[in-house]
This record gives sequence, C-alpha cells and structure tokens, in this order.
Amino acid sequence: MALVNEHFLKLSDNYLFADIAKKVNAFKATHPHQRVISLGIGDVTQPLCPAVVEAMHRAVDEMAAETSFHGYGPERGYDFLREAIVKNDFLPRGIHLDMNEVFINDGAKSDTGNIQELVRWDNSIGVTDPIYPVYIDSNVMIGRAGILEDGRWSNVSYFPCTAENNFVPQLPEKRVDMIYLCYPNNPTGTILLKEQLRGWVNYALRNDALILFDAAYEAYIQSDEIPHSIYEIKGARKCAIEFRSYSKTAGFTGVRCGYTVVPKELTAVTLDGSRRISLNHLWDRRQATKFNGTSYVSQRAAEAIYTPEGREQVKKTIGYYMQNARILREGLTAQGFKVFGGEHAPYLWVKTPHGERSWRFFEQMLYSAGVVCTPGVGFGPSGEGYVRLTAFGKREDCEEALQRLGDWTI
Ligand SMILES: *Cc1c(COP(=O)(O)O)cnc(C)c1O
Repeated sequence: MALVNEHFLKLSDNYLFADIAKKVNAFKATHPHQRVISLGIGDVTQPLCPAVVEAMHRAVDEMAAETSFHGYGPERGYDFLREAIVKNDFLPRGIHLDMNEVFINDGAKSDTGNIQELVRWDNSIGVTDPIYPVYIDSNVMIGRAGILEDGRWSNVSYFPCTAENNFVPQLPEKRVDMIYLCYPNNPTGTILLKEQLRGWVNYALRNDALILFDAAYEAYIQSDEIPHSIYEIKGARKCAIEFRSYSKTAGFTGVRCGYTVVPKELTAVTLDGSRRISLNHLWDRRQATKFNGTSYVSQRAAEAIYTPEGREQVKKTIGYYMQNARILREGLTAQGFKVFGGEHAPYLWVKTPHGERSWRFFEQMLYSAGVVCTPGVGFGPSGEGYVRLTAFGKREDCEEALQRLGDWTI
C-alpha cells in the first residue's frame, strides 16, 4: 500500500491566480462590452530579442546535423555559458566565481523549490513577508513549515515588510536556520541597500544560518549603489546561495534557463556537530541524480544575451518595462495613491486608500475601472491592505488603466 505524503494535504488548493481568473471571468460574463486591462500579470509580454532568436536558430541547425548534434549535456551546464556568466555577471562587480560554483538550470523556480533538500527537515525557516509562494510551499511539502493557522505556518518566522518599516525587514529575534530573501523583491518591488543586506549576511555568519537569495530581478536595478548579487557583501560566500533567472531578464519564461550559485566555501554541519559538509558538492550530487541538464538550444540562447548586441537589446526591453513602471508610479501617485517599489523592479506595491482589505479593493478596481491587480494578501499576511501592479503589460494598456483609475477615484 502506498501511503501518501500528507504534507501535501496541508497546502491550500486555492491558487491565487486561479482565484483571480475566476473573479475576472465572472466580471466578464456580466460586463461583456467592457475591455478588461490586466496589471496583475506576472509574465513578460515582449518577444525574445533578435540576438537570442538568431542564436536559437543556429543551435537548432546544429542539432539537425549528425556532425554537430548535441545529446545529453553536462548536468551543471555547458562551459560556454558558465564562463560567460562568471565573466559578465560577476567579475565586473568584483566577484570572483569559479565556473564550478555555477549550476545552469531550467529556471529559478525549480531550484528555489528544490534547494531545501540539502538540509534536514527539522531546520527552521524564515521569510520576508509578503513573499514569492514557492519558498514556503516547497518547505510545506516535506513537513518543514508546520501547519497553517490564520494564514501563517507554525514553523515559519515571518519578517514583515510594510510601509511602517519602509519595507526593510528586521533581523530575526528567534534563531532561524534558513532565510529566504528576494531582492529586488517580488511582490513589493522594493530593494535592500548594501548596508541592509550586510546585516543579513552578518546575522547568517553569526548564527551559522543559510541565506537563499533570489536575484531574479537583478537586471531591473537602476542604480550602482544597490547590490546586484549577495556576493558583493563580504562573507556571503560562506553563508549564501544565489538564484538567477533569464526569465525576467530576457523574456525566457517560455524558453527556460537560469542558474544557481553555490560557493565552494559554503557548508552545513552534521547533526552531531563533528563535520562540515560542502553544499556545492551535495548540490552537484543532487543534480547529477535528478536533473539531466537544460536544453542546448536554451543555453545557446542565454549565451547570446552576453554579446554586445544581445546586451543592448535586452536592456532596451527592460527599459520599456521600467518606463511603464515609471508612468504607473507617477500617475498613481498624482492620483493620491501611496505607491512603493517600481524604481528597481517591474512591480508596484500600492496601499489601498482607506485601509480596504486587498480582495475588496481588487473587486472595487475590477468593477469600477475594469482593471485587474493582484491582492497583496495572496503573498502573505503582511500583504493585507496592499495590491500588486506589474509593469509587464503594453504601454497603451498602462496608460489607459491610469486614465480609468483616475476617472474612478475622482
Ligand atoms: C519570476 C520569478 C522567478 C523566475 O522563475 P523562472 O522559473 O526562472 O521562470 C524566480 N523568483 C521570483 C521571485 C520570480 O518572481
């Protein structure tokens, strides 16, 4: 008899975006002539840039000939891509990585979800709140998160990020073993300055904790003062794993490629305290068993982002989204909304004007303006009273949404 992993049963079936879709469909059914504009979408909309498309075509042609065909690739990823990453993403910021510290993957979601396999089930975890749901849910599945009570998991420490603390999470009062950080942040669109990130690295070093740093939105940072990588902080190589993705950087949500950095100095201790074990080695072993590499075509596509043309083209698309963000941020602020984020990330975090609950404000915005947002509480308890808007839409839609919201709030 196969007994089910009952930890899965603790997860709620109500997936945030499915709930939203249901409500939007109900609205459309009763308002067939109203065009709905979505500022809720978490996916990119602009096509792949020409440099990437050409690289993919070339790679497909190689696959078509016996002499240049590629079968299984190395599990860690091809050297050409790992070399390009070390040289372009890290060296210019003064970070020296060994190629074998870089693991190519099929996107950051898999690795942010899988990485928790490397440590015992009874480690404690901490997350900034609100948060990308993958971090907690992947821990729920193996029983590390405890049980859900009033929207909070019993074994998870939440570090609230709200307007009250300017979205800078306070260091834990209670010891935590694993800390998930995502900067620039999804959903709030806010960032951490170097000094603030240093506080977390120092906490981890002092407490022998592990930081899981999701830098999926690194490419949206508009200022050199803001850390692009946690390894810009001294000591981070001893306590942090970093996740990167080409999804938001270069529109790879449908191509699938990203990478994870696991430094050689990073270790975790055995239960009896007698030995420290290299996590780079464990992750390598894990990948060799459970992962057979990212497709050759996707890796050639990613490599093309580092060419001069690719770099220019990708920058232009990010510039387009960030211009959307600026238009939305300035427009909404002029309309009297309290808006956070959107300066170094494609997300705006908007406070509901009269303290309405997130879902109520979501419905008001939908029924009064035909504009879809994402209720903040869907990302965690501290998201209550906020909604998330994204800048991934078309320019015209951002402008029209603003106009409609202006007409509504007058
Ligand atoms: C979109 C996103 C990712 C990237 O996911 P992929 O699997 O690489 O497409 C990772 N982390 C966060 C917080 C995201 O929003």
